[in-house]
Amino acid sequence: MSNDPDSTVYPASCLCGGVRYDVSGPLDEAALCHCSMCRRATGSAFNVAVPVAEAQLRWIARETLREFESSPGKMRAFCSGCGAAVYSRRAAKPGQLRLRIGLIEGLSDLSDVYHIYWADRLSWMDRFGDLPKNAAEEPGRS
Ligand SMILES: [Zn+2]
Repeated sequence: MSNDPDSTVYPASCLCGGVRYDVSGPLDEAALCHCSMCRRATGSAFNVAVPVAEAQLRWIARETLREFESSPGKMRAFCSGCGAAVYSRRAAKPGQLRLRIGLIEGLSDLSDVYHIYWADRLSWMDRFGDLPKNAAEEPGRS
């Protein structure tokens, strides 16, 4: 395999393995979205979306993949086996996907990472960089 970062292939899987794909680089951009819809869709404080062309994906398994239309023309895909958020897409932007970063393995060198809908963030996001960083679980949890 070439060392050209643009040709790197990243494997991706949901928690149960029902959804699996390989995605080809370049993957150098991630948007941290703080809007309330992304928070509800992912169950997290913010969503991390990697914009790609659908042609960069090679599907390996997607029998459990389902799509939910969260607003007109906006589809949010998830795994019906484990509930993992997989991607979103807009009917108005055919061929474009916004992958959910947590499924992608080995994606450690993103050069362009930024917040969107920062105005809608949870207030404690302002302290995010200063919060305690435990290597594993929090002290005292059994
Ligand atoms: Zn799954």
